[in-house]
Amino acid sequence: MSRIGIVPVNAIDSTFLNRLALCLEERFLFSCEIERTLRLPRTALNGVRRQLFFNTLVAKVVTHTPGDDGLRLAITDFDLYKISHQFVFGDASEEHRTAVVSIHRLRSDFYGEPVDENLLFQRTLKEAVHDLGHALGLKHCFNPRCAMYFSGSIFDTDNKMSHFCENCEKKSRASR
Ligand SMILES: [Zn+2]
Ligand SMILES: [Zn+2]
Repeated sequence: MSRIGIVPVNAIDSTFLNRLALCLEERFLFSCEIERTLRLPRTALNGVRRQLFFNTLVAKVVTHTPGDDGLRLAITDFDLYKISHQFVFGDASEEHRTAVVSIHRLRSDFYGEPVDENLLFQRTLKEAVHDLGHALGLKHCFNPRCAMYFSGSIFDTDNKMSHFCENCEKKSRASR
């Protein structure tokens, strides 16, 4: 396993994705490529919640890129939820080596603040590193600065780094 395939769900800015790919290559030392776009209509959302179910997205991403022996990272603008969580910034299926990140709640305008593309990028990078960590089998870390710290709110995301602490870095190297 030495490759990360980034799967854009619907239209995601390509400059943003290329920048993300470069930063992930630097952190994981895997080659990182942008896959073809996965088209997902709004009818895929839970009609009442207007959110996308995490497991639904993972299944679609796996079908979209079959036989992939590397890691997958899907980026979506849809808001995500799980059975156990009202919303998640992202999560991963270790079994399918698939990570997903939603940028929906990473946007500063979601919180009534001015649009900030650079802040959105930094937040996305942190959550992408976190969920790729899960896809590699890493669990949550108690160090609030580590990328594997669980973000229950956007403040947690802003407070953590876009890389692993020493311990998590060791575990991630061992799992590659
Ligand atoms: Zn997590
Ligand atoms: Zn850690």
